[in-house]
Amino acid sequence: MTERPPARAVRGPRTAPAAIARRLPPGLTTRYAPAPTGYLHLGHVVNALWVWGLARAAGGRVLLRLEDHDRMRCRAELAAAILDDLEWLGFAPDAPPVRQSERGALYAAALDRLAAAGLVYPCACSRREIAAGGEPGAGELRYPGTCRERGVDPAATPIRRVRLAAAAIVFDDLRLGARTQRPSEQCGDLAARDRDGNWTYQFAVVVDDLAQGVDLVIRGEDLLTSTGRQIQLAALLGRAAPPRFLHHGLLRRADGSKLSKANRDEGVRDLRADGWSAERVLGAAAHAAGLQAEPRPLAAADAASLFVD
Ligand SMILES: [Zn+2]
Repeated sequence: MTERPPARAVRGPRTAPAAIARRLPPGLTTRYAPAPTGYLHLGHVVNALWVWGLARAAGGRVLLRLEDHDRMRCRAELAAAILDDLEWLGFAPDAPPVRQSERGALYAAALDRLAAAGLVYPCACSRREIAAGGEPGAGELRYPGTCRERGVDPAATPIRRVRLAAAAIVFDDLRLGARTQRPSEQCGDLAARDRDGNWTYQFAVVVDDLAQGVDLVIRGEDLLTSTGRQIQLAALLGRAAPPRFLHHGLLRRADGSKLSKANRDEGVRDLRADGWSAERVLGAAAHAAGLQAEPRPLAAADAASLFVD
């Protein structure tokens, strides 16, 4: 049996967790939104601690959304396993879970609204063409707008892009402070639907957060760069005020690698099979994330205690 998971937060919190909780309005709505492309690992547990802990500390609600918009990569048995692990850990949402795979009509209606405003165009570019047109060294692939004025036949491609005006998006991350991003330079016009006809992560998430009244988004720092484009897209969809964002540190292995696919000593399933209690898993995750000084056992119902002085 593993004595203690090797994962640890590469950086501790910036703004103290209790100070963040004090800044939150009462009655907020946040969400836990796993993608059923793998089993839960300690990194997901850390996210759940932030989500449920902050929501409970602020008297808010937690929604559960299975982000299975990508039909190729998501598997029903993984969704079932995630729900089972969450229940075992003691994290209960305040409403029945929703699945993105069942919300296609909502995304289609949102795309139609944007199209009616002249903000959508079909894109027939191959991945290679986009790579060739992107600016090197930007860190991610920027769509250069090739099909903006090309008049591509909508029947020729399932890809739909949303025009993003050149704009600096300024937001105040609850933990990291003020940030400025320029989505039109980072990623260019956003794909809402991809070449396989799947709704994209960015599009589905923004539509869901708006439709579900989510006003606090809590996620890992690896997603920080996509915040500006989500705020910009939400505004195009008619959202009056964007949600607040909080990006927490990621757990890293001792060699610095991300916990994208869990090792045996990091997977919730594996720790369960090894005889760990839910409280021990939560305590270890909270400790690894810098949310508590010792890996003492912690019940999910007490997650709010991590966010109180
Ligand atoms: Zn194109």
